[in-house]
Amino acid sequence: MSATPTQSDEAHLTGVLGVDLTEALRLARQAGYPDPVAQGLKGQALVERVLSILCELSSQDGLTGVANARHFRATLDRELDRAGRTQEPLALILTDIDHFKTINDTYGHPAGDQVLRVIARRLKDNLRPMDTIARYGGEEFAMILPNSAVISLPRVAERLRQCIANEPMTLPDRTTIQVTASLGLASSLPWAVLSASALVERADRHLYLAKSQGRNRVSCEPQTVPAVSTAERTALFQRSPTS
Ligand code: GH3
Ligand code: MG
Ligand code: MG
Repeated sequence: MSATPTQSDEAHLTGVLGVDLTEALRLARQAGYPDPVAQGLKGQALVERVLSILCELSSQDGLTGVANARHFRATLDRELDRAGRTQEPLALILTDIDHFKTINDTYGHPAGDQVLRVIARRLKDNLRPMDTIARYGGEEFAMILPNSAVISLPRVAERLRQCIANEPMTLPDRTTIQVTASLGLASSLPWAVLSASALVERADRHLYLAKSQGRNRVSCEPQTVPAVSTAERTALFQRSPTS
């Protein structure tokens, strides 16, 4: 079998289970997936593979490869629900690149894109596999950290800040620049589970504080660890979602 599917391969696909896969296959190839037709997949196996590729693509940000905003919202809802049931804390960190417009204006849009890719990679490398990183907006990333020891969260956020600020970035034209970001951290605790919008709002408020206090810093709620047991807290606070 040839590595590149021929036109007749593609025409044949229209008849597979009555589904026209031509456009889906084009998207898959464009995104760099190994070609399912060239791999010899046919019939239902081919349709299943193409569907699984489309599902992956629909949850990813095309530029950075991390989760997109839609996937972020679904994951946050799911993780909050789980945190409520398992009594585990859940943290949300919002990150916004500092003076990103100036980077675009000075070095060009492709350089800005490269900065976004590098930052996504660095943040991902500094998180656990169970955490979710998403591109939340243009130059904003959101990170969902399930079951994180509340007391260590400010240290985690500080490590994320440093992984961006402490190492210069090389642009496509080999120029080296220093980029910083500001971070806002909020937690949903077992005895006071927040709604997704309330958690985002709190993290966003801290992100705003980090910006207004000078950028390149972390802002978070004071982390207090109560001396009462989980059972006592549950009895006291009836874990109903607050907003
Ligand atoms: P601040 O420190 O207050 O966050 O300032 P800022 O310049 O980072 O924020 P501002 O909101 O003024 O600018 C964000 C810029 O991000 C403007 C927009 O053109 C750029 N941007 C958004 N998405 C992309 C993208 O995908 N690629 C590139 N290169 N730039 C983008
Ligand atoms: Mg922004
Ligand atoms: Mg910014």
